[in-house]
Amino acid sequence: MANETYPHQDPAQVSEVISSLKRFTSGGRGPWHAVSDSDWKDWRWQLKNRINNLDQLESVVPDLSDEEIQGAELANTKLSLGITPYFSNLIHREDPICPIRRQVVPRVEETISSTWDMSDPCGEDEHSPVPGLVHRYPDRVLFLVTDRCAAYCRYCTRSRLVSNASGYGFQPDYQEQLDYIRKHPEVRDVLFSGGDPLLLSDSKLEGLLKALRDIPHVEFIRIGSRIPIFLPQRITSDLCEMLKQFHPLFMSVHANHPRELTTEVKEALGRLADAGIPLGNQSVLLRGVNDSVPVMKALIHKLLMCRVRPYYLYQCDLISGSAHLRTSVRKGLEIMRGLRGHTTGYAVPQYVIDAPGGGGKVPINPEYILSHNNERVVIRNFEGRVFEYPEVADEPEDASSMKVCSSVHGEA
Ligand SMILES: *Cc1c(COP(=O)(O)O)cnc(C)c1O
Repeated sequence: MANETYPHQDPAQVSEVISSLKRFTSGGRGPWHAVSDSDWKDWRWQLKNRINNLDQLESVVPDLSDEEIQGAELANTKLSLGITPYFSNLIHREDPICPIRRQVVPRVEETISSTWDMSDPCGEDEHSPVPGLVHRYPDRVLFLVTDRCAAYCRYCTRSRLVSNASGYGFQPDYQEQLDYIRKHPEVRDVLFSGGDPLLLSDSKLEGLLKALRDIPHVEFIRIGSRIPIFLPQRITSDLCEMLKQFHPLFMSVHANHPRELTTEVKEALGRLADAGIPLGNQSVLLRGVNDSVPVMKALIHKLLMCRVRPYYLYQCDLISGSAHLRTSVRKGLEIMRGLRGHTTGYAVPQYVIDAPGGGGKVPINPEYILSHNNERVVIRNFEGRVFEYPEVADEPEDASSMKVCSSVHGEA
């Protein structure tokens, strides 16, 4: 089993592991075999029956380690423990380093704060003009609609407020957030996040989307959600029918490991895609989960098969208690080198570091430009071969801006 996380060097074995990771299989019923089909497929049943304490965790994942037992005892003081029954069945119970398990089962290491760790690594609170709204970039805002999720990622960058385990007391006043957007015509792009926006009822979500669409300068709306992965049952045809009234509406989902893409998830993503919602994926680079080229390749190829375009690969934020899940940036660059050119650009996400302290997302790329001067640019391709491209002088600045003006007036 450990081979799934760290595939063996033997190429034949690697390719066998990869093809098994790429297969779409159902999460199955696990210990819930006696539950009726209609309950199992009901997202509210899944939420009601989440695993959220040590006893429940032990009954579903036997042989917890001491680190996990202590972690589960301490969970609910910093970030709640919550796992949907559906998602818990993806844990390979006999594998202590299962990549699914590492993402949702708490460990005592979460209580360790290392030197660089922060409670708000992206500096969101400093860029929050009204509660629940983050305005960090010129033309777009993050609109936090709830502090709850279907399940809790142990490396959550927003754990200071998500799940309210540490008493942040997040109580968004949607009117205040909407008023801010109304008064700021530069906001042409709104991203719903949280917590997970798809935990809201269809009618509540519809009300928010309507209010946003009534603001003429809001051109583009996105929903950031891990619910298609944690709780695919939530993606009902009613939800999709409702969402498709608000186009252009995009959705960013969050899958980190190819085994998260089950037949249930593929069908849920298919329903969203059929409703005309362009889908992107945001992964977090996590130690022991997806920190190898073959696993990452299996993930991005499987995403394309689910009609999802890999969007960002995040270096793990310096959130307190996540050091055991973080990798080096060197590892991230190595993975990017293993993807670019070796597979279609549609499958390759942009690797980014969200600059600690509120700097925003910064793209991190392997060196493809070796040198650049007024005569030439020297470039390296994906195979490591070096090429030259001649450089020319640009037109004077006023001449090129004139061209923009004349084309605006229809003369170009
Ligand atoms: C990531 C993020 C966005 C969206 O950025 P895109 O590059 O448009 O996906 C907006 N606001 C904040 C605060 C963010 O962290």
